[in-house]
Amino acid sequence: MAASVPLRRVLCYHCGKVILVPTNARTASCSLCYKGVILDDLAVRETHSYVGKLVTCGKVTIGEKARTITKTVEAGHAVEIAGFLDAKVSCGGTVHIGPNARVKGDCDARTLVIEEGALIDGGFFRIGPDAKVQSQPPLPAPPATPAAA
Ligand SMILES: [Zn+2]
Repeated sequence: MAASVPLRRVLCYHCGKVILVPTNARTASCSLCYKGVILDDLAVRETHSYVGKLVTCGKVTIGEKARTITKTVEAGHAVEIAGFLDAKVSCGGTVHIGPNARVKGDCDARTLVIEEGALIDGGFFRIGPDAKVQSQPPLPAPPATPAAA
């Protein structure tokens, strides 16, 4: 009999559902949508431009000296912004915007904390229990091609 592995609950950023993963795992497969998910916390400390997105079931930290420009930041657990972030943020937990932070872009989160002094430069904010981590919509199915004659 296998010893029971300690599990933790995370939010899958593909399907937006809560899944159970081994506490020590750094990556896992979602038991519901079968896609691979990253569980590690991500921290950005310097100037960075990401072509794609920053995504994890854990926490994304944008350090005080960081200047981060990317398309989307998706975090199941939390996003902590102390520096500059230009991205569309989706978070299943709390987005924390520090007193020296500057944020540009949309924000979709369950809860939002903004410290006095933070700068928010536009963007559409949707905060509340209905806000979900949203992945890119699935690609449309290829059009049915008639069988070659
Ligand atoms: Zn999933």
